[in-house]
Parts: sequence; C-alpha cells; structure tokens
Amino acid sequence: MTKSEQLFERAVKCIPGGVNSPVRAYGAIGEAPRFIDRADGCRIYDVDGKEYIDYIDSWGPMILGHNRPEIREAVVKACEKGLSFGCATEIEVEMAEFICENIPHVEMIRMVNSGTEAVMSAIRVARGYTGRNKIIKFAGCYHGHSDAMLVSAGSGVMTSGVPDSAGVPEGCTRDTMTAIYNDLSSVERLMEENEGKVAAVIVEPVGANMGVVPPAPGFLSGLRSLCDKYQSLLIFDEVITGFRLAFGGAAQYFKVRPDLVTYGKIIGAGMPVGAYGGRKDIMSLVAPVGKVYQAGTLSGNPIAMAAGLTQLKILNEQPQVYTQLEKAGEELYGGMEKILEKYQVPCQMNWIGSLGSLFFTKTKVENYETAKTSDTAAFAEYFKYMLSCGIHLAPSQFEAMFLSAAHGKAEIQETQKAMEDYFKATK
Ligand SMILES: *Cc1c(COP(=O)(O)O)cnc(C)c1O
Repeated sequence: MTKSEQLFERAVKCIPGGVNSPVRAYGAIGEAPRFIDRADGCRIYDVDGKEYIDYIDSWGPMILGHNRPEIREAVVKACEKGLSFGCATEIEVEMAEFICENIPHVEMIRMVNSGTEAVMSAIRVARGYTGRNKIIKFAGCYHGHSDAMLVSAGSGVMTSGVPDSAGVPEGCTRDTMTAIYNDLSSVERLMEENEGKVAAVIVEPVGANMGVVPPAPGFLSGLRSLCDKYQSLLIFDEVITGFRLAFGGAAQYFKVRPDLVTYGKIIGAGMPVGAYGGRKDIMSLVAPVGKVYQAGTLSGNPIAMAAGLTQLKILNEQPQVYTQLEKAGEELYGGMEKILEKYQVPCQMNWIGSLGSLFFTKTKVENYETAKTSDTAAFAEYFKYMLSCGIHLAPSQFEAMFLSAAHGKAEIQETQKAMEDYFKATK
C-alpha cells in the first residue's frame, strides 16, 4: 500500500469522501488521490516521493509556478507581524488601489475569502442595485456553491429553479434561469420573457468548468448589448480568467466591459482570497455605506493580501508573462492537437491562452450539451496513463489544464511525448 492509499484510508473515515473539496477525489478514476507533500515551479511531489509535472496548479492560483520565492518571503514577513487583526490594515488599501489603478472597469473592490463568496455577494449587490431578482446563468458554468448558483449544470435548458444539489430549497433557485453557452438567442428569449425582472447575466467569459469552452466571436459583446437593452447588469465571473488571460482578465482580452467582476484563485496566490468589484455607483451600495449587507471576519487578511498583492505586482510589472503563457499554450495545446490529427484520434482539443482541455468526443465542444458527449471512461484511462508517466492532470474530463510561467519547453515536450505514446499504443 502506498502512503497516499494509507492516508486515504484514514481520511475517508473522518472527512466526507476523504477530501475537503470534491474535485480532489479520484472518484471518476477509481483510485486513491495522490496526497501532496510539496511543490516547486511546475513540479509537484506526492507523499510517496513521486514527482509530477503539475497541470492543476492549485486550480489556477499558481500562475507563476509553485513556491515562488518572492511570494513566500512576503508571506513570512507578514506573518512576523501577526496573523490577523480583524481591523483595517494598510495592505488592504494597497491591494484595492493596485487593482483599481490597473483595471479600468474596476472602480471599487471588496475582498472576501473565496470565489463562492465573491459571486454570492456580486449577485446580491446586482439585485440590490436593480431592485430585480432574476439572474441568468449558463449551463455548464460554475459560480461556486452558493444556493442560488447551484443550478443547471442540468440538461433541461431554459428550465428555471431546479437545484442541482440536495439541501438547496427550490425557493433559493426559483430566480435562477439557465441559458445555453455561446447561444445569444437563448439569452434574448429569457430577457424578453422576463422583461424588467432580470437583475444580471453572470457568465464565465471563458467556460472553464465544463472543460475549456472559449466564447464564440461576438458572444460576450452580444451579452453586453443584451444587458444594455434590458437594463440588466453584466457580471463576468473571472475567478479563473482574471489575471490569467491578461492582467485585466477576459474583459481586457476580449475588450468587453462588465459592470461587475468576481475574482478568486490567482488573486490570493494560493491563500484563500476572493473579491468582487466594478462600477462605483453599484459598489457604493455595499455596507457599511449602502443597504446591501456583506461582511467577513477574515476578509482582507494581511497574510493573504501579502501573498496576493506580491503575485499581482509581478504579473503587472512583467507583462511578458502573458505573451509567454500564450506561446506556451500554443505550443502545448497546439502540439496536442497535431498528435490527435496524426493518429486520427476522435477527440477535441479546446484551448485559449494557458487554459486547455482534451475532450474525448468526436463532437465539437462549444457548450455544456456538447461537452457532455465526452467519454469519461476513455478520459479515465488516459488520465491514469499520464499519471504513470509523471503528468499530473485534473482527475476529471470537465476540468482545465493550467499552464504556469514555470512550465518550460522540456516539460511541454515530455507531456506531449506521454500523450503521443498513449495514443500510438491505443490506436
Ligand atoms: C473556482 C471557481 C469559483 C469558486 O471559487 P471557490 O474559491 O472555490 O469558492 C467560482 N467561479 C469560478 C468560475 C470558479 O472557477
């Protein structure tokens, strides 16, 4: 028995499923998850001493690679002053100023502790601002696990209010409507049918929780126009894309201005941080100045701010990181696509910038319905092979691969070689 297997055996007895977040489980794979001991750069090491090239990157925060010295040192320095005060600190002001100065559509921002909290709060302020209740989201987009957002993933497009999870009362999701990703007419229909009632449209500007599904040309700008026409707010959930596609996230990358934006993951550099922000007239409604209540004992925690701000400053001062990530994405994912062509594998390679997904389906993937045509058993076999070659992928067909600035040519080639060997052998 490996050490990971032993730990898993202990874990399942006292943690549901043995993990503190379901995405870590290897349920779809049928093995014990690898328990991680440490990581450095683009490499991660499990408790059995095995080394892997890591494409999970803590689900995105590690955009500069693991254990970056400047960030670690900033954290250690902040720790020496005390871990938390529950009072206002200078570094929170620096963080907010830094983001507002460098991202034009963020005029005011509030820190929270997770992406879930950021989205939940942004929805609340959108409802408070518009005086409307209904929210349009897209099937296959994940916005954290707050009650109102745990809707459809399901198949019944255009249904409203059927929760995905036990324990979520229908009352909590009655005002959540679901449209089809990359299909503006599905949004327009909901807008028309509910005129005067839609507070906001929330979207992952690049779908990254059904595997990677980039927006079709005109999709995001079309949402902007529809929101303007029906006087609803446009919320970009940039928990994955923020500070990744560009410093200003997908909004900058696609040149579409949202009214509100949510951040998580990269903004904390590995510490638990989320944030929501946007137009000043909207954000001014948040307590204690406004009537929309939102709070957090540990929000803006100085250690978390030290980590996040250090990472954001590096990203902003070294914009070449983004050109490097684009190039690495083209090399890795473009190369993977060539391998699929070479061996005539009926799979789809979707990618944009540093995010990519290999879908085990012959159908072009452009929304949740088409993503779901994937053969998850075939993915599981591929995953296991890659893991045995030292390539650490997310243990699910419907997650992204995350490239970091620490992934070099050699690692990309090693990854492609493992993939090519797999498809050569299974052809
Ligand atoms: C991860 C994620 C969230 C939730 O963030 P947590 O920090 O896990 O609560 C919300 N939205 C998107 C797009 C995400 O990828």
